[in-house]
Amino acid sequence: MKLLVDIKSLNDEELENFITDSGFPKFRAKQIRSWLSKNVTNFDEMRNIPTDLREFLKTSSYISVANIEKKLVSRYDKTVKYLFSFNDGECVEAVVMSYKHGWSMCISTQVGCKMGCTFCATGKSGFSRSLTPSEMLAQIEAAQRDLDIRISNVVLMGMGEPLDNFDNVIKFIRLASADDGLNIGMRHITLSTCGIVPKIYELAKLRLGITLSVSLHAPNDEIRQKTMPIARKYSIEELLQSCRDYFDTTGRRVTFEYSMISGVNDSDENARELANRLSGMNCHVNLIPVNTVEGTGYIKSNIKRQQSFIDILAEKNITATVRRTLGSDINASCGQLKRNHILKGGK
Ligand code: SAH
Ligand code: SF4
Repeated sequence: MKLLVDIKSLNDEELENFITDSGFPKFRAKQIRSWLSKNVTNFDEMRNIPTDLREFLKTSSYISVANIEKKLVSRYDKTVKYLFSFNDGECVEAVVMSYKHGWSMCISTQVGCKMGCTFCATGKSGFSRSLTPSEMLAQIEAAQRDLDIRISNVVLMGMGEPLDNFDNVIKFIRLASADDGLNIGMRHITLSTCGIVPKIYELAKLRLGITLSVSLHAPNDEIRQKTMPIARKYSIEELLQSCRDYFDTTGRRVTFEYSMISGVNDSDENARELANRLSGMNCHVNLIPVNTVEGTGYIKSNIKRQQSFIDILAEKNITATVRRTLGSDINASCGQLKRNHILKGGK
């Protein structure tokens, strides 16, 4: 069987080569790009492309789309949660949120995840495959079309570990920020990682200007290893050193995610240890009361514990905020919508 080219995952140079290598003039590549940016979903919509080229494209390539399998709209705010399916029937989740500055979208980078964090619904469901750049773009395009909005901020915090799909994620970021792409500025893109240290150094070297968000979730190796298997591979000190390097190389402040789990990582002593470790770093801490995932037994920390963390971190001049909960009625934690879908017989 002939492998079809994933045309939306090609960058400008690759698209040009694909067209000229097949005997068509170079300027056609620009016209095709312009149609792809307009979100066309089949080649016949490319009206200024001659029939022979359209026929060639149809037999040699495909346009990635994300189909809406499920859509949940919050009754409290404008948050929308999607379950998207791709060509092969695999599904991922994504969430669109409304902020003062515009629309933000949290997208997935893999179907499932290999990292196995104990508090995470995605981690519990295992790993199926990585997404292509076009499948990441398609999630944004599908939401923009469905809601008739423009997404101005993107966070890679849905299903999957972005740095475990490094090349595709970097290509996605470049395509999404291109003028003739979705035109989402690098400064409006955030990548969240559980902490694959060598890849953080690699990312810094690219100097993309995106925000790095690191899922820390513990003040020391002992607690971190209990909830995050990756912590057995890289120590918290090695991880923080790579974050310092990220700041020194890119000038971008790193954000730390800290899911507060009652009785696991939320004592005053835990807060003091965290404050000492982060002291002197140019960073921000996002506190997230853990979303309870069935079967984990984890319970979210109460408001008193959250405030205590904020106060103790502030003593060391570390800013911390509790992440605003949007769409609390539909925000079954990431991976749960899909879990329910699977339980009902979906893929
Ligand atoms: N794999 C990446 C990005 C996807 S997870 C990462 O781990 O950073 C996005 C964020 O959601 C991470 O900070 C992750 O730790 C957090 N998360 C996962 N399950 C959660 C839960 N049940 N409650 C709160 N946060 C959770
Ligand atoms: Fe994967 Fe992130 Fe979930 Fe951990 S928290 S299992 S790295 S998606």
